[in-house]
Amino acid sequence: MKKISLVFSISLGLIQYTHGQELSGKENKSLKRIQNHVNYLASDRLEGRGTGAPGEKLSAQYIADQFKSNSIKPKGENATYFQEFEIITLRMAKDSTSLLINGLPVFLFKDFYPLSFSANRKFTEAKMINVGYGISAPELNYDDYAGKEIKGKIVQIDIATPDSQVAHSRFINYISLESRVKKAESLGATGVLFVNKGNPNDNPSGEMAKNIKPATIPVFFVVNSNLLFDPPNGLNVSMKSVILTLSAKGHNVVAYKNNKAKYTVIIGAHHDHLGHGEIKGSREPESNAIHNGADDNASGTSALIELSKQLKKRKYKKFNYLFIAFSGEEMGLIGSKYFVENPTIDLNTVSYMINMDMIGRLKETLMIYGTGTSPYWNEAMTDLRRDSSAIHKIKTMESGIGASDHTSFYLAGIPALHFFTGQHDEYHKPSDDIALLNTKGEVKVVAKITQLIAKTPFESKLEYTKTKEEENRTTFKVTLGIMPDYVYDAEGLRIDGVKEGKPASKAGLIKGDIILNLAGQKIQNIQDYMKVLTKLEIGQKADVIFIRDGTSRSAAIQF
Ligand SMILES: [Zn+2]
Repeated sequence: MKKISLVFSISLGLIQYTHGQELSGKENKSLKRIQNHVNYLASDRLEGRGTGAPGEKLSAQYIADQFKSNSIKPKGENATYFQEFEIITLRMAKDSTSLLINGLPVFLFKDFYPLSFSANRKFTEAKMINVGYGISAPELNYDDYAGKEIKGKIVQIDIATPDSQVAHSRFINYISLESRVKKAESLGATGVLFVNKGNPNDNPSGEMAKNIKPATIPVFFVVNSNLLFDPPNGLNVSMKSVILTLSAKGHNVVAYKNNKAKYTVIIGAHHDHLGHGEIKGSREPESNAIHNGADDNASGTSALIELSKQLKKRKYKKFNYLFIAFSGEEMGLIGSKYFVENPTIDLNTVSYMINMDMIGRLKETLMIYGTGTSPYWNEAMTDLRRDSSAIHKIKTMESGIGASDHTSFYLAGIPALHFFTGQHDEYHKPSDDIALLNTKGEVKVVAKITQLIAKTPFESKLEYTKTKEEENRTTFKVTLGIMPDYVYDAEGLRIDGVKEGKPASKAGLIKGDIILNLAGQKIQNIQDYMKVLTKLEIGQKADVIFIRDGTSRSAAIQF
């Protein structure tokens, strides 16, 4: 994060890696420009470019200015370079959130807390009625609501199931708390109080999900169920749910070079990073130090700006070019997803996408991921390998799904490649600094990209293919073969993509399904999911419970 004498440290980097990377006169000019971009983008002044923070705005403005000086037209919103999107940064109960039982207040966070689905601002005062598990399952001849008048009342619901089972419950279609809230709401209840009479470890999470559509009524969890004793004439309950929601704006920067060609190539790199480590993903969040993100991803961003200059040359005019600096990548590819859902050009005219993320630390191998996304890439890779003057080895991976923005385009049916110079110890730490970059190597990576673009066919779009997935080298023995939705933070784990031929896809799971239980273990979030995976063995069978279109289902997974 802190810069030591810049000139000195950069030259150290060069001594280490100059071998095979002599630059031509033109390339030296390119090197200077890239260094200038990186020096600004990864400086402490930009404070780690956290999405929605002032440093990210400065970064976006800088990129827009560079596009402008390279005479590339704006293609964001309202004739500007910017495409803004909202991110919810916080949802939490305010102190004015209250629960009164027969007129007596109980303590927020000690005796009760609101759940994620709780309405943002709602007051209700009513008689409470105990509705058991809050389940009506006509096909099982079971109805907790039978003969009860619910309209205008607050319901008390036990989070357990009538058969005390979870994974093998006959009631799997009804166990999610969200579906029980929906049921109560549909019957006219004005509030829900959940209780847990079983193991306290099963208490629902008190962390309020950020990306969720809340219910219209207050939904609280009452920690001590004895507070809701059941007197003959019922309890009078008053619930006030006041949820503070903070949001911020992320900024994609979008520019377009219209060469009146038939097809467009999208070139992208994310410009956001982890701020002071307050954004999830930092490996040293306690340090509160600026995460400069020189490699991740001032390197890719500077290459993006450089390409917007180089691709103006006549020989590249067979395509139009859309340059996008994404934000929100570190929070879960939010900016690229937003762009794909709200494109500023017709995506049907896009031939392919190239993503650059962490291309500043070239040693001898360049990684190119996504080579299975079009049959053409095989030929292209052979061509790139032929010239080994600067980059000695190219390692490819077929998968179109990975931890960067090309994934959003692959999932939208666009062939996409991801350029990457490899993992390192400083990844997602404040020490990912300029001094450690090999900017000469980056110039060579940029040259490979222009070489690739110059040779791709332009008369027709590249053919798109779904990729077979290579095994991820992780600590897990098994893989479910899904891409988790990192942005989703309500109950469960939402699937953002399913890999063909893997256990999840074989069991019929699809994008959008929300996993609530795997192998008998409750899945509240991605961490729970990881924990369960570490315990599973190849060959093992396990049940999965998930929600699709608001109803729960189950399937058997064969690992
Ligand atoms: Zn990155």
